[in-house]
Formats: sequence, C-alpha cells, structure tokens
Amino acid sequence: MVELQIRSRGVSDPKVLEAMRRVPRHEFVSFSQGPSAYSDGPLPIGKGQTISQPYIVAYMTELLELTGTETVLELGTGCGYQTAVLAETAAHVYTVEVIESLSLEAEALLRRLNYTNIYYRIGDGREGWDEYAPYDRIMLTAAPSRFPANLFSQLLEGGIIVAPVGDYFQRMMRYRKEKGKIKEEALIGVSFVPFV
Ligand code: SAH
Repeated sequence: MVELQIRSRGVSDPKVLEAMRRVPRHEFVSFSQGPSAYSDGPLPIGKGQTISQPYIVAYMTELLELTGTETVLELGTGCGYQTAVLAETAAHVYTVEVIESLSLEAEALLRRLNYTNIYYRIGDGREGWDEYAPYDRIMLTAAPSRFPANLFSQLLEGGIIVAPVGDYFQRMMRYRKEKGKIKEEALIGVSFVPFV
C-alpha cells in the first residue's frame, strides 16, 4: 500500500510513510470489507460514511507539515483511521464526531490499539472544540461548502488548516495563519462526504 499507492504518488515525508506502515487499516473496516482493507480507494464504514482512501489520508497528513510536537484538532472522527495516523505523527489529537455511535466505536478501537494521546468529543465540528484551543493544526475530514472561518480563532499563529471544501466539486484547501491573516492554497480536486 505504502509503496504502490502513496510513495508512488509523491508523498515523501518519512514520518507520514512510517505512520501509514504502522496503523493496521484492517482493524478500521468491517469484517466483510477486510479483504479490501489495503486497496486503493475509500470504503463504507456504515451510517453513510466512508473511510478515506489511504493515499488521501497520507496526503492530508503530509499537508499539515507535522514535526511531532503539535496539537491537532480533527473534525470528523469517522472510524478513527485518520485519527490514528495523526496520533502517530503529532503529540496530541483532539477529535470531534457528530454521529455518537461512530465516535464511541472509534474511541473503543483506538484505546484497544493503545493510543493514549487522543481526546474524543461527540458534537458538531463546525464549532471546533473551544475548550482546548488554540491548536497548531486543524484537519477537516468531511467537506464544508465553504471555508468555516470561525475555526481561525482556534488556530495558533503559524498554524495550518487542511480541509476539502466545496459542494459537488470539492478542492483540497490549505490555509495558513500568518500575522493574523489567512493565506490559502487550492490543491487537488477531491470527493468527500459533506460536513453536515
Ligand atoms: N477520518 C475518517 C473519514 C471520516 S468521514 C477516516 O479516517 O477515514 C467524515 C466524518 O465526518 C463522518 O464520520 C461524519 O459523520 C463526520 N462529520 C460530518 N459532519 C460533521 C460535523 N459537522 N461535525 C463532526 N463530524 C462530522
């Protein structure tokens, strides 16, 4: 998976590649999807939600430019796969999921896999998670139709937000907070479930 799907498409951050090797993706998919766990695409995880394609998880993690000391806010826990990759590459991960059952299942699984640097919240990620703000990095794993500007107050100066943005046509966006201003970069075209 790492060589053929991820490194071959240009992801080169050694920390990200190592995290993708370490996290057991088969644990995050249902038994019937097991044979496809390492295939080159997204998979259904129930409740109309999906686990992202491995390459996209690696790509988004690389876009955060993590050194290992950062505190990251993830909006959209889903099955917790991206959460685990972030827990491997950052110091602390705060993750918010709106569907209670998904959050509880992800938490149980990530605890069983011995991740102790992840904090879970059931709620609407559009508000971020004010209690522990500000964060070094924020990642959205579902797509808002436009950039949720309110999240900027929860981002540290020098921080980065990575998010798929758009309705039918979405683009991966990276926003940096520099001298209190937003600098944005439009990246590849993507297809994510909507941020509700
Ligand atoms: N991170 C997952 C993919 C998650 S899919 C992975 O590793 O593959 C997107 C998730 O965002 C879904 O679980 C969905 O329920 C959640 N979501 C959608 N809108 C949300 C909102 N407003 N607040 C929090 N979570 C939301």
